[in-house]
Amino acid sequence: MARDCIFCRIIRGEVPAYKVYEDEKVLAFLDIHPSALGHTLIIPKTHEAQIERLSEEDARQLFTVLHKLIDKIQRVAGAGSSTIGINNGPDSGQEVPHVHIHVIPRPKGVRGGVIQGIAKMSIRPTEAEMRRIAELIKLS
Ligand code: AMP
Ligand code: ZN
Repeated sequence: MARDCIFCRIIRGEVPAYKVYEDEKVLAFLDIHPSALGHTLIIPKTHEAQIERLSEEDARQLFTVLHKLIDKIQRVAGAGSSTIGINNGPDSGQEVPHVHIHVIPRPKGVRGGVIQGIAKMSIRPTEAEMRRIAELIKLS
């Protein structure tokens, strides 16, 4: 855990939070500046800034908790949909350098964009470029 990290401080109970779930590895609580009512953050108890630095076990439990909570969060918020996202690293706009999944309920009729709209680079790759990048991403 990191001494000055706000989320580590919430885990340690030094800072209050509207906690909605806790187990040995994961904590979930309401975002203090919610984008929608019920906006929830799900975090690992391990202090890491980016998802790729988490152990596979921590990553698995993080997404297991997302899977457990999502239906309830949506129902309570009167939504059948949600936007789920991670700002992964400083260039993505991440403010708190402790991995967290944002779960933002999206009630019907409330305006808002899609997640892929936030990082639009207006590129039009060729088929060859698409093939090449797909090959490079594949795990060997
Ligand atoms: P980001 O790092 O950009 O993905 O966002 C960090 C999120 O953490 C923001 O939406 C903040 O509103 C939220 N946040 C920051 N401090 C607290 C806190 N003490 N309790 C709950 N949420 C917080
Ligand atoms: Zn932390």
